[in-house]
Amino acid sequence: MTCDATSTAAAIRAVAAVIIEHKVELTRLDRDIGDGDHGENLARGFTAVLGKLDGAEFDTPAAVLKMVASTLISTVGGASGPLFGTAFLRASTAVKDLPELDAQGIVTALTAARDGVVARGKAELEDKTMVDALTPAVNAARAAADAGDDVGAVLRAAAADANLGADATIPYQARKGRASYLGERSIGHKDPGATSTAYLLGALADAAAGVS
Ligand code: ADP
Ligand code: MG
Repeated sequence: MTCDATSTAAAIRAVAAVIIEHKVELTRLDRDIGDGDHGENLARGFTAVLGKLDGAEFDTPAAVLKMVASTLISTVGGASGPLFGTAFLRASTAVKDLPELDAQGIVTALTAARDGVVARGKAELEDKTMVDALTPAVNAARAAADAGDDVGAVLRAAAADANLGADATIPYQARKGRASYLGERSIGHKDPGATSTAYLLGALADAAAGVS
């Protein structure tokens, strides 16, 4: 199975639905260690993405990803808007004009997304950010693709390790973003951006498996 422009658009619709479904939870997590807007920010962005998908035709997966990037950058705001925007933009650039993504293409896109977030936000592992979900996801995806897994299994592996990575942020002290202002008081809470990243990847995996 590969992922063409149409299935990429369908997968992004699935992501939007899951982010909107978890809006309140994501905002609650951000209330604990931030300013309580993460779910609202992302739901606003993905609602705009849904609007841009309606009636639109895209030639390549990269074209879909580029539209998501520009829409998130212009609508999400906060720290996470430019970071998610960069992730989608780098993923788009990395897969060029390929008509379909295979398992290695997914790895290329995820790796570029993670590298873009790190380049922009300068977070290291265990800084309690979305990087703590993205990096394990990239590593799991690469291992799965190298073992010969298909697109669905690669995304499933990425989502599973992103989930573990998000859970693992709970004991960390935040060293980047708003949560870092709390110092030790950020310990004991799950990072909102790592959580939304895990939901996003889970939605992609479900879409690839035809679950949603
Ligand atoms: P803001 O903090 O501006 O209100 P959001 O609430 O939308 O923005 O997003 C907060 C999330 O952004 C955090 O939970 C964290 O995962 C992520 N984040 C913040 N700063 C960075 C950074 N420098 N690198 C990576 N991720 C970051
Ligand atoms: Mg916030």
